[in-house]
Amino acid sequence: MSRFLSQRFSTLTAYTPGEQPKIKNIIKRNTNELPYPPSEAVSAAVKESSENLNRYCDIGCTRLREALGANLKVAPEKIIMTNGSDEILNFAFMAYGDKPFAFPDISYGFYTVFCALHKIAYEEIPLNDELGINPEDYIGIGKNIVIANPNAPTGLALPLSDIERIVASNPDNIVIIDEAYIDFGGESAIGLIDRYENLMVTRTFSKSFALAGARLGFGIANEKLIADMDLIKFSTNPYNVNSLTQAAGLAAVETADYYMSCCDKIKETRAYTASALRELGFKVIGEDANFLFASSDKISGEELLTKLRERAIIVRHFSAERIKNYNRITIGTREQMETLIKSIKEIIS
Ligand code: PMP
Repeated sequence: MSRFLSQRFSTLTAYTPGEQPKIKNIIKRNTNELPYPPSEAVSAAVKESSENLNRYCDIGCTRLREALGANLKVAPEKIIMTNGSDEILNFAFMAYGDKPFAFPDISYGFYTVFCALHKIAYEEIPLNDELGINPEDYIGIGKNIVIANPNAPTGLALPLSDIERIVASNPDNIVIIDEAYIDFGGESAIGLIDRYENLMVTRTFSKSFALAGARLGFGIANEKLIADMDLIKFSTNPYNVNSLTQAAGLAAVETADYYMSCCDKIKETRAYTASALRELGFKVIGEDANFLFASSDKISGEELLTKLRERAIIVRHFSAERIKNYNRITIGTREQMETLIKSIKEIIS
């Protein structure tokens, strides 16, 4: 770092995104992307929108919020669009950071980074021995809460009744439910936003809507919380969602059936992969997201990662002590997963 960097950032450790390797013919299953391309409508919409790039984009993302609201049965006023869901999460940490945050010790790695960035106190609550969230740990905790549901990298979802108990028992704190993977399993908390003024749900187009590269996410909450988010947005970057991405998102929502059929294929392939891994003696944790979290007594997590990489298959490994024997495997096409299983068989035999 330079000697000019502000003191308050001098000890900051940034988030490490999953690798985007440039190797040809790679089976890239490390960052939870959909293996299928966006719908044809998306590229046509982006092309058309590109003709107006001389103009600033719509700061309200009006058409996109209207289409999304209709799709999710939520009033557009209760939605804010952001540059990936990382941005809505960042806004929320920034807006509500006067109070400490609580979240699971094993979850999305950005939560601790946002706390460090905004100097927010936080408590990491240990997952149970089966790497699940114990809802009782969050009942009446009196801190702001962030829970990824389904959680990552475990792939386990909490039932909606538990989420509701957590939200209801912390009325003076914000509860953020990060639903990045909800289209692959679990029950959404969107239906609760009118009942609980302290609830915000965040979502992304990066996973189930195959738009990771376009950077599109959103938050859903009552108008007051959305006004808080708008305050931060308009104080940082009013044009946070560019016009190409707005066009891509709108076309994606309009062709939602295509994406839901992609999600169905992922769920089928996930079931195949989980049972094939179990047949090979692996312990497989959750089956609610578009990835599996798997470990084996026959090979360490790190060795499996390296050996798969030699075969041009990239999965995600985390070095935290409790999960270092696991790898997170994003579900790909059936063909990709058959190749993965075949490779693992060769590696461990
Ligand atoms: N939440 C969770 C749980 C995630 O795994 C991710 C993906 N890295 C995100 C949020 C952010 O995704 P994006 O910014 O691409 O919407």
